[in-house]
Amino acid sequence: MSLDNKIPQGPIASKWTDYKDHIRLVNPANKRNIDVIIVGTGLAGGSAAATLAELGYNVKAFCYQDSPRRAHSIAAQGGVNAAKNYSGDGDSIYRLFYDTVKGGDYRAREANVHRLAEVSVNIIDQCVAQGVPLAREYGGLLDNRSFGGTQVSRTFYAKGQTGQQLLLGAYSAMNRQIGRGKIKMYNRHEMLDLVIVNGKARGIIARNLVTGEIERHSAHAVVIASGGYGNVFYLSTNAMGSNVTAAWKAHKRGAYFANPCFTQIHPTCIPVTGDHQSKLTLMSESLRNDGRIWVPKKLEDAQAIREGKLKPTQIPEEDRDYYLERRYPSFGNLVPRDVASRAAKERCDAGYGVNATGEAVYLDFASAIERYGKEQARIHHLDENDAKLVYDLGKKVVENKYGNLFQMYYKIVDEDPYTTPMMIYPAVHYTMGGIWVDYNLMTTIEGCYCIGEANFSDHGANRLGASALMQGLADGYFVLPYTIGDYLADDIRTGTIPTDLPEFEEAENNVRSMIDHLMNNKGEHSVDYFHKKLGKIMWNKVGMARNAKGLTEAMDEIAALREEFYRNVKVSGTADSFNQELEKALRVADFLELGELFAKDALHREESCGGHFREEHQTEEGEAKRDDENFSYVAAWEYKGNPREAVLHKEPLVYENIKMVTRSYK
Ligand SMILES: Cc1cc2nc3c(=O)[nH]c(=O)nc-3n(C[C@H](O)[C@H](O)[C@H](O)COP(=O)(O)OP(=O)(O)OC[C@H]3O[C@@H](n4cnc5c(N)ncnc54)[C@H](O)[C@@H]3O)c2cc1C
Repeated sequence: MSLDNKIPQGPIASKWTDYKDHIRLVNPANKRNIDVIIVGTGLAGGSAAATLAELGYNVKAFCYQDSPRRAHSIAAQGGVNAAKNYSGDGDSIYRLFYDTVKGGDYRAREANVHRLAEVSVNIIDQCVAQGVPLAREYGGLLDNRSFGGTQVSRTFYAKGQTGQQLLLGAYSAMNRQIGRGKIKMYNRHEMLDLVIVNGKARGIIARNLVTGEIERHSAHAVVIASGGYGNVFYLSTNAMGSNVTAAWKAHKRGAYFANPCFTQIHPTCIPVTGDHQSKLTLMSESLRNDGRIWVPKKLEDAQAIREGKLKPTQIPEEDRDYYLERRYPSFGNLVPRDVASRAAKERCDAGYGVNATGEAVYLDFASAIERYGKEQARIHHLDENDAKLVYDLGKKVVENKYGNLFQMYYKIVDEDPYTTPMMIYPAVHYTMGGIWVDYNLMTTIEGCYCIGEANFSDHGANRLGASALMQGLADGYFVLPYTIGDYLADDIRTGTIPTDLPEFEEAENNVRSMIDHLMNNKGEHSVDYFHKKLGKIMWNKVGMARNAKGLTEAMDEIAALREEFYRNVKVSGTADSFNQELEKALRVADFLELGELFAKDALHREESCGGHFREEHQTEEGEAKRDDENFSYVAAWEYKGNPREAVLHKEPLVYENIKMVTRSYK
């Protein structure tokens, strides 16, 4: 099958505008006869469900939580980008488009990214109309801040709770449609297989997580909006439940999986403290607007700090190495995440780490507190030489901006970040790879769409901060509602899809036999035992720095672990009741396949780009070295019964409006 990406012809700025005005639509009366399943009701799925229902389709929406409000999207802290240029600092649609393509290290599809930048401006209007309380300036206008990889302020935010507020907006819109009967909500339901009839996605098999019942659901199209797969690393900043199952089942039924190795490691997370942890916590990138990242200049100081003999506040200014400001003077602490993460790793590998494990650097607000304090003192005609007063005034400003993040840090680490610098280290955060989709967001299975973090679309090899919410909401509110009509126009006379077809039977049996195997296995080890082992392999050999030897070993180790899992996993409880161990087992089984494909993808990509860093391919200064001649393509993998036998299909990346250059933030 060729990868027909359906990109319309014409100048990039008019591609989407013209395209959406000329695709087929379904008239309101006919929409009533059409059912759409949406798997996932985070920001992408929730916004799509509300919009499709508003348009008149019958939506069946699924999530495994007890409410769409608990989707992982709620965790998004820092903000959502849009090219509104409210700050008057020279932002534009082109600049957002340019920054995003460059940020992704020229591995994203140009037309998609331009469309994303175009509709970004609508997202803000949509959310404000819904009543989302985005932060405002003193004068009442919407406020902006800056995120990594950009030199303008285009990030809209709601304190450190942007995802929560945006999700509540989408959820309210969904609730209206649930009330009208246009959305049927299936909470606590997990999709465990995709049903394909005559080559088209026509339904899903889901498990009712409360009763354990296996259910068949049919529709004319299926939209996967199931989020990212960062939890393949076991430890990540993702919600504990985030998983790849829905996307992986679609992959196994014929949807190509694109760029699985493109994963983002976020530079500012609370460091790992030991083996007992099951989750990592993000400290929002917005903190890099004001926080300065440093380690001691002298190895002996770092050592003394690690041994608890020295405090960071005792190290004088001249003995601190603000390494991002030193290496990247024009972007400084706001370099993109992949660059900041690798720089932290480089310093820690060189022995300058500042916590007991040697894997932490400082994020320091002392300068910001002083700067803001002096400004406030001047504004209020107070004594700017009064250090205590300046500190109090400055602290208030910082508290207003980031108070909840500071409180969260204090609760987890038990140290006051106002008086002592935070300790941070990179952690797995976001997956740029995912199900391959064409310009219409359709996968390689007809009638199966994929939106939000679950698809591979717009971020290339690295996602710039505040761009995931933008993409999820663009897909859900503004792109899919148009493009799906083009496909569904053929279904206005199809009628309800029956669920007693042999294809439903086969898929249901498939799910039942997997569950039977897991429940009857009676092995020795818990699901977490395997998940932790997988995570260790992934972090050590497929993590921030990768090489051919490690990746080859990882593939073998994961295959062996998978084999052991099926032989030796123990799942307690029963299949016909609420059983979270079984839920986990079904998800980890899929992670154990994805992990191998992930390593295979990283092994085949003999270059470094964005978050994918191959040690063999770096410049003398340790920066990523791309190979545009041989790797300017999306790697889309076709499932062939075993992850290591997956077949590679290449979608060439053609840049007509941007010149590919070496990414520099110096
Ligand atoms: C800590 C943190 C902070 C972040 N901050 C920001 C930020 O400030 N700005 C930004 O732009 N991005 C941020 N991101 C990224 C962003 O939050 C996510 O990429 C985005 O929310 C994903 O949205 P989604 O709708 O695609 O998926 P999710 O919100 O993950 O939703 C997935 C949905 O799918 C459902 N689901 C999954 N599998 C199944 C299944 N098999 N059956 C049924 N339902 C299923 C779930 O129940 C859920 O409803 C952050 C990420 C993290 C981890």
